[in-house]
Amino acid sequence: MSATIIDGKAFAARIRGEVAGHVARLKADRGITPGLAVVLVGEDPASQVYVRSKGRQTVEAGMHSVEHKLPAGTAEDALLALIADLNADPDIHGILVQLPLPGHIDEAKVIAAIDPAKDVDGFHISNVGLLATGQKAMVPCTPLGCLMMLRDHLGSLSGLDAVVVGRSNIVGKPMAQLLLGDSCTVTIAHSRTADLAAVVRRADIVVAAVGRPEMVPGDWIKPGATVIDVGINRIEAEGGKTRLVGDVHF
Ligand code: NAP
Repeated sequence: MSATIIDGKAFAARIRGEVAGHVARLKADRGITPGLAVVLVGEDPASQVYVRSKGRQTVEAGMHSVEHKLPAGTAEDALLALIADLNADPDIHGILVQLPLPGHIDEAKVIAAIDPAKDVDGFHISNVGLLATGQKAMVPCTPLGCLMMLRDHLGSLSGLDAVVVGRSNIVGKPMAQLLLGDSCTVTIAHSRTADLAAVVRRADIVVAAVGRPEMVPGDWIKPGATVIDVGINRIEAEGGKTRLVGDVHF
């Protein structure tokens, strides 16, 4: 059986176009320009790439973008004071604090300080609770994007057997909540799951969010199943180079 590829890049381009349309209407009808503040503490190279990309995409969608780049040694109190300012700033509607934060800063305390209405990452306990109880919430973007692609590809997800591999707060758990919200029968697998191969083999939908290069081989996938690979893993390639692979063997 040959596979159909879900073109994530094309899907993302379409969504960005739709967001730009919403932004233009918000400006024209209500005089509001959505503003997104991204806060980066330290010089983690991957985080710098993500923050740059978030700023660029925000501007491309017609929004107001603000970047706060703080030195790695920034005190927790100073970061909390910045978040209080952003919470109070009427031009800022969304706040993203890039994780991970340096070890001396309590991530949970920082997330808790963000106004839940501006918590566009959906990490604040209020948004986590709203999602878990099936209410309107700010939802973490990675699992939401996966859900949107699954709906786009499959139509109704109702009654499908979904297996999420990984139980992080950022991807696995919210992914499972979203699939449950669409009436899938959901299993969350993790590093202690017994016979992971058998669990994955029965799934109509597999979402892999583990961070282990190509750990899910093709023969774990039921013919006709839909696979979303969230994993981003850099491995060594020929000639001393590196390349990116997912958690599923492509
Ligand atoms: P994480 O916090 O490290 O969580 C990994 C999960 O995988 C944990 O729940 C862990 O189980 C589970 N796991 C580890 N080894 C396993 C094994 N052998 N069998 C089954 N489960 C296993 O990672 P994350 O933040 O969720 O990210 C996962 C991957 O997605 C990473 O590659 C990351 O780079 C990528 N990611 C991509 C995006 C995107 O936008 N595409 C966004 C975020 C993350 P335990 O809980 O039992 O330890």
